[in-house]
Amino acid sequence: MDHEIRRFEQIDSTNALLKKLAGEADNGLTLWADSQTAGRGRLDRKWVSAAGEGAWFSVLVKDERLSRDNAAGLVFVCALAAAGALRQLTGRTDIGIKWPNDIVLNGKKLAGILCECGLEGEKPVWCVCGVGINLTQERFDDSLPWAGSVKSETGIACAPRDVIEAFLAAFDRETERLLSQGTAPILKDIAGLSATLGKTVRAGDITGTAAGFLPDGSLRIQTAEGETVVHAGDVSVRGLYGYV
Ligand code: ADP
Repeated sequence: MDHEIRRFEQIDSTNALLKKLAGEADNGLTLWADSQTAGRGRLDRKWVSAAGEGAWFSVLVKDERLSRDNAAGLVFVCALAAAGALRQLTGRTDIGIKWPNDIVLNGKKLAGILCECGLEGEKPVWCVCGVGINLTQERFDDSLPWAGSVKSETGIACAPRDVIEAFLAAFDRETERLLSQGTAPILKDIAGLSATLGKTVRAGDITGTAAGFLPDGSLRIQTAEGETVVHAGDVSVRGLYGYV
């Protein structure tokens, strides 16, 4: 995938602008902002994106092979690519993925991911993959007790450009694998890096053990009453005693 990278000093949200451009733009277009004034997480939550302290960017996927099934896997492609890039740049092999969309280390959230698709009928015609990676913050607002940065958790200060380049190389490989082979191989790799599977988790009023994934990326939770399935995008999953 070719990536034209457009950099902005400040923007409301890289996802919001890329969604506006998606119809006309080419596959791979990447918007990168030094700061976002209205960064977003799932369920319309705010994503704090301080100036110069992280890699805040969004990548456009426009490919004939996109389908409802494989588009749901893009969040996992981003998680694999972000975890892989940070492992490569820091040498830390304990960087993990908290289902479905967070990168974690030492129980702290280093990064979040938000993928949004435009549909024609049932078929996704483009998807915007937004990624926010905390790089150099030393501390966060009291309202974000689980947030951490690559610097605060590893002592290593990565440059946003290096992180984005490493991410895009992995993202291209994993997107090709997703579009040609579907979600199964991606989910297998996610399971290997998962900070969620095997843990006792809470999702809304459900408490149980995170047992595995369904092919669409949903999480199976084993409870005292039996098995329940939660869908990515619907709920926040928390560890019983902390964030992970
Ligand atoms: P969830 O943790 O439920 O998966 P999202 O992925 O939707 O949530 O991310 C949004 C949430 O992440 C916000 O509600 C806030 O608690 C937290 N958050 C916002 N900005 C940051 C940041 N820079 N680093 C870590 N966590 C953040």
